[in-house]
Amino acid sequence: MKHPVQAPQSLELLDLPGIGPVRAAALAEAGIHGIGDFLTLAPRRYEDRSGFLSLTQLARLDEGHKGTVLVAVATARCIRTRRRGFTLTRATVTDGAVEQEVVWYNQPFLARHLHPGRRMILYGAVQPGRTRGHPPQIENPELEMLPEDEGTEQAIHMGRVVPVHPRTAGLSPRNLRRLFHLALAGGAAAGLDFIPQELLAGRAWPAREEALRELHFPVEDTDPGRLQACRTAAQRRLIYEEFLLLFTALERQRQQRCRKARAWTATWSPQVERRLRDRLPFTLTAGQSAAWETIRQDILGPHPMARLLQGDVGSGKTAVAILAMLLILESGRQAAFMVPTELLAMQHHQRLQDLLRPAGVPVALMVGGRQDATARRVREELASGAAGLIIGTHALFQKKVKFANLGLVVIDEQHRFGVSQRTRLEEKGHRPDLLVMTATPIPRSLALTRYGDLDLVEIRDRPPGRTPVQTEVGCRRARTRAMSMIRAEVEAGRQAYIVYPLVAESAKLDVAAATEGYAELAEGPLAGLSLGLVHGRMASQERRRIMDSFAAGEVQVLVATSVIEVGIDVAAATVLVVEHAERFGLAQLHQLRGRVGRGRHASHCYLLHPTDIASEAKHRLGVLVSTQDGFEVARQDLVLRGPGELMGLRQHGSPGLRLADIVRDEDLMEQARKDARSLAASGIPEALMTEACRRWEPRPAGGETEQEG
Ligand code: ADP
Ligand code: MG
Repeated sequence: MKHPVQAPQSLELLDLPGIGPVRAAALAEAGIHGIGDFLTLAPRRYEDRSGFLSLTQLARLDEGHKGTVLVAVATARCIRTRRRGFTLTRATVTDGAVEQEVVWYNQPFLARHLHPGRRMILYGAVQPGRTRGHPPQIENPELEMLPEDEGTEQAIHMGRVVPVHPRTAGLSPRNLRRLFHLALAGGAAAGLDFIPQELLAGRAWPAREEALRELHFPVEDTDPGRLQACRTAAQRRLIYEEFLLLFTALERQRQQRCRKARAWTATWSPQVERRLRDRLPFTLTAGQSAAWETIRQDILGPHPMARLLQGDVGSGKTAVAILAMLLILESGRQAAFMVPTELLAMQHHQRLQDLLRPAGVPVALMVGGRQDATARRVREELASGAAGLIIGTHALFQKKVKFANLGLVVIDEQHRFGVSQRTRLEEKGHRPDLLVMTATPIPRSLALTRYGDLDLVEIRDRPPGRTPVQTEVGCRRARTRAMSMIRAEVEAGRQAYIVYPLVAESAKLDVAAATEGYAELAEGPLAGLSLGLVHGRMASQERRRIMDSFAAGEVQVLVATSVIEVGIDVAAATVLVVEHAERFGLAQLHQLRGRVGRGRHASHCYLLHPTDIASEAKHRLGVLVSTQDGFEVARQDLVLRGPGELMGLRQHGSPGLRLADIVRDEDLMEQARKDARSLAASGIPEALMTEACRRWEPRPAGGETEQEG
């Protein structure tokens, strides 16, 4: 198609027909803040309408394949079924040669449009009749009505490969297609290019405007397979551009942090190092040592540290964090260690106190909900500098918490906190160092996109003496085996966890499930054993009492809601049973599994599920049977679930990547990241910088706070 490019450059969303302030607001809600965003809305799929199938051809397609037909309505009717509120819309359509039954479920409004003679495009498959004697039918096809008075516009909807965009802000794929056409014809993308010339050199990519045109209106001989797989030069160019914008924004955030020189310097010497290491009751593993060296370099370097420490559950990240905190303390600064739950805060506090008491270093604790004299005293000590080390929960964010000279912020299990929370704690100091840790590893691609403003370091090994955990997925029989395993292990002096899922909608239900389960177990399969119950709604003292008796071995079986998910460390625990494992994420299950296998004895993990779960869910759980390596679990989780769900880019106040996919397009991602880095060193061109900031700079977004488990 040829269009005059002579149009005004300043075409706006509101200039498009049918887009008024209300639509524009709805689009903004979907993350589309202008015509530039609008144009990069990716098609969900492409449909080859260069030739339509006949109804006979459609009926002959192999099972699982769909096709596109151009038909006219013969008859149509809407039927209310006996099931209340359930409607069927039935139509008989014809392609001129044969007739075919079509049915839509629960779309009663369709009937209004299906007058005899009305032409439409259907995308679907012919299903055999539901019961014997019923004719085959096309079920719930996607449909596009053709206007009754066919204008010249048909050229963009037919006779070619057409894009089918996801319905957005109430705009149908056909509407969207029309708008894209008008926008491009109006020159909305003319003359714009964000990729600097030097990066385009050597890459056989079309110019931006042309790429957008091909994205929405592929030229005639484009291979539909390549289109579908996002492999055309036009698509790859736009995907690269999207990554380049993201990494440019992240580079800028990094630079802003780094450009500021550090306000103070840490003091270090081999003697200090020896003193620090002597405080740990063990020698560091090679992985811990390497990570610590890197982090120490950061702390001694000229700019504030911003680092993400990744390691599998149990790899000993805490020890590295402790060394960092001690070094800060040696240098006369304060360090704050933030964890997502009270339970974990108390445990870390206990452990650190035990560790540092001989050296005479006090460790303060701050958890939520306490307004008593102790809390006040802790606040005073932080403000005066009398307290050097503090472990705490979200309570550390409180406005009234002030530090005399905060030098380091450590955030454990970062995924439980929002970006703005992290910033709030950082702002309590004068450019403090920042060390962020994940609970279980996330794949590199995800780490780069989500935490690209941080430097990355990994611990790949584990402390010695870990035993592999035998993992079994199953329902009834597995439960029976789990219960006898618990009995056998408890008899041998060991301990067990039984975990119930958190019911997201209601903490009450969640507690009820655990409480009920507890009662049943105590009277049934585990009668005679010493059981303890902990859940998130318990008073923290009570919870602590039970956790302490579990740690001491008095409670043999701990029944818990997923509060134990975080960091609990009891070496004698050798059995972990997870109820409704299908409700947990893989990373979460892997982390739970990390609660066992911490001692000398063989450990067992049972992931129980109801009998009738979907095979995908079973397959997902199977990943945990096949590997113990958290990096591998994370990789498979990303592949299975797809990046969309995991991206978490909403943290940036934006709905995330539109065209790019961090799994499919990993090569372009790595390339764009490298390029953004070297651009940042040599100077980021204005156009790229402006667009990167516009698109990815944090917007104030609500709903980041996560509640304690
Ligand atoms: P995570 O990385 O999951 O946070 P932790 O820091 O909680 O792991 O460490 C897990 C356990 O391993 C703790 O009991 C800790 O004391 C122990 N540990 C850590 N490093 C070593 C080491 N180098 N040698 C022996 N035990 C270690
Ligand atoms: Mg930990």
